[in-house]
Amino acid sequence: MAIATVNPATGETLKTFDALNAGEIEDRLVRAEQAFQIHRTTSFARRTELLLKAADLLEADQDGIARTMTTEMGKPLVQARAEAAKCVKTMRWYARNAEGLLADEHPDPADVGDSGAMRAVVRYRPLGPVLAVMPWNFPLWQVVRFAAPALMAGNTGLLKHASNVPQTALYLEELFRRAGYPEGCFETLLIGSGAVEEILRDPRVAAATLTGSELAGRSVASIAGDEVKKTVLELGGSDPFVVLPSADLDKAAKVAVTARVQNNGQSCIAAKRFIVHNDVYDAFSERFTERMAALTVGDPMDENTDVGPLSSEQGRSDLEELVDDAVHQGATALCGGRRPPEHRAGWFYEPTVLAGITPSMRIHHEEAFGPVATLYRVADLDEAIELANDTPFGLSSNAWTRDPDEQARLARDIQAGGLYFNGMTASHPGLPFGGAKRSGYGRELSGHGIKEFCNMTTLWYG
Ligand code: NAP
Repeated sequence: MAIATVNPATGETLKTFDALNAGEIEDRLVRAEQAFQIHRTTSFARRTELLLKAADLLEADQDGIARTMTTEMGKPLVQARAEAAKCVKTMRWYARNAEGLLADEHPDPADVGDSGAMRAVVRYRPLGPVLAVMPWNFPLWQVVRFAAPALMAGNTGLLKHASNVPQTALYLEELFRRAGYPEGCFETLLIGSGAVEEILRDPRVAAATLTGSELAGRSVASIAGDEVKKTVLELGGSDPFVVLPSADLDKAAKVAVTARVQNNGQSCIAAKRFIVHNDVYDAFSERFTERMAALTVGDPMDENTDVGPLSSEQGRSDLEELVDDAVHQGATALCGGRRPPEHRAGWFYEPTVLAGITPSMRIHHEEAFGPVATLYRVADLDEAIELANDTPFGLSSNAWTRDPDEQARLARDIQAGGLYFNGMTASHPGLPFGGAKRSGYGRELSGHGIKEFCNMTTLWYG
């Protein structure tokens, strides 16, 4: 894949970039290792100062970087600004909280006394340069949610960003440099995915995190496994959105639309499968479809646009294939199901609701990465749970019920890394984020996330 900015709203190639050559990659690895030897010994006070400075700079740049993101991958500008604001909030959260999250632990002497210790301490020390392989869909957020905790822990970061967001990738390197981080603390590697293996196998690279598709995750994890290096994987999702009779249907239908079409439908934690109890199916379906059909599809730079283009031509044809396969096998498009005729250029697709899904359809098991929702009718809670779990993925999930017994059942039985009641899944710096099953492993954000790339060291004092 060429490293280039191609505007998805027009299909126009705006800027292309050369991939780094072997010598340029080597220079960056040397710098990352040297920077680690400095950064790992800096105080939390200094790391806090640096990250707060980066947050202030990003806040000042909010509109400019939002426009760059929208140009590169097509998300509505309003959402791109919100993404930048969320990054600022998360940087400040880690700047304020990292020292406490990584504070030494002092096991109870009664628990370690029979080991002969006078005392013992558990200390969280950084690992080294961490390779971050990142996707284009939240081009700022995915990186910051890795970089903020990693840098606060004393690690350094090597970013291999998706090939279609090079300007956002370069902006990130520049942001941390302007904030005053030592050279090499955070570097962008403009490389194709074929160059990842050699870097990952380099002894100077301590660990890797990948957010992206299952295919990419499997490749990076197997190479890292071969090198016995730690990985965190944040992969795809096909989150269920379960609606039960006690739900506030108006609110559920309104939130369902946002949960499905946020980021033009290209979010790992988007609700994708809408599983609705028979008693409220017709009422929910009507409200949901009406709202989906009323969305404004258009230029993502226009502040009134709800849904912009998909990020690539390939992304749109993958989505079309899933929809066409379902329709050919008997699914009904309650709205959408095609390219909007008024947008000839760009990779637009109409917000779509499909009903009558059966397990033989590809969309039943695969991730629909675009504004396409599938609707299912179920007879009871048991069937809802069974269907919610009938997926290879297990990222997050949503359930609409006010019944505490139903909530308890769902909390016990839903196979996912998150379960949001009466609201949509959204990440928050203070809450762990990550998946189960084919959605990956490890956690980002919160205290759990910052500890993923730490060497949890036992200090034993005799
Ligand atoms: P992708 O093709 O896997 O790309 C993601 C990153 O991996 C890019 O930097 C890509 O580089 C690189 N890559 C691709 N194949 C690789 C390989 N064999 N070895 C090493 N690196 C490789 O994913 P995408 O289609 O852009 O992103 C969408 C996917 O990401 C969806 O499945 C979505 O659900 C998932 N996602 C998950 C989360 C989460 O938190 N769980 C968040 C966002 C997205 P190139 O661009 O150069 O190919």
